[in-house]
Amino acid sequence: MVGVALALKIHRCPVCDKGPVEVEDVPYPQYCPHCDEEVYPSDCLRIWEEVADHQSNVQAISRFMLAVEHLIPIHYIRYLAGESLPLLGSVSVFVDGPLAVFGNPAWLHGSIQRYLFEINTQLSSIAQPPLVIIGLQKTGQVVDHVNLVERFLPKNRIFAITDEYRYQYILPSRDPAQNGFGYETYYGQDFIYKTSTGRVFVFALPYPFGTKDETIVDFQKAKTELGRYPQLARALALVTEFESDLYENAVVPIALAHRYTAISLSPGGRVLDILTAHGLQSQS
Ligand SMILES: [Zn+2]
Repeated sequence: MVGVALALKIHRCPVCDKGPVEVEDVPYPQYCPHCDEEVYPSDCLRIWEEVADHQSNVQAISRFMLAVEHLIPIHYIRYLAGESLPLLGSVSVFVDGPLAVFGNPAWLHGSIQRYLFEINTQLSSIAQPPLVIIGLQKTGQVVDHVNLVERFLPKNRIFAITDEYRYQYILPSRDPAQNGFGYETYYGQDFIYKTSTGRVFVFALPYPFGTKDETIVDFQKAKTELGRYPQLARALALVTEFESDLYENAVVPIALAHRYTAISLSPGGRVLDILTAHGLQSQS
């Protein structure tokens, strides 16, 4: 729904537990209609449920960071869709990790899946190729599994991980989920790709459907059919083009992001010294 102002629903108020509470995208404080305490749009991520007295907030903060890592690309995509939709046909986005949202904000995955499908439908209506979003995985169970078997894989091959394969070889100790793997969390399909030079990448592309509704399509089977991913060739070309020696099995954008967002010790420390001295001077 590009360009349309929407209200967010917080399923229950973090203070009084009543709900749902509706909040809007406005730059001033908003209050719960039941208890009159301040509520925030970000409360809909349900991160606050993981915050408790006498326990570390690390898990809640990590959860927030992971949710935002999925929201920020969507924000830019919405912005570009509003400003210049055709441009999105030539944009690619790398997301660090699988295309999935876990824990309390997991409900986001469904909205993201629907939104990306809608954007691709709009792009198709103006004869543009679909958006290329690549969830690149460097750690995790799939990567661990691939590290064990990669020497047996022929070069120049791509494999869409099926639920059968995953439950048999990657997660053998786990009972298959009733509605298929990742039903409550994933919005993209995982692929294993071995390049012609012998490097192996694990990456995901958004599901080519707006919903996982099995009455529309045999989702568990259809999500692994390569022909349903028209952006696959461009994604593979990108991964191959950006194969990098900077980090093992990382690609340039992520390696560069890591390099330039870290604060280096010496100049970073000096900046903090100057800021502290400045703050102390202005107080005295
Ligand atoms: Zn309240």
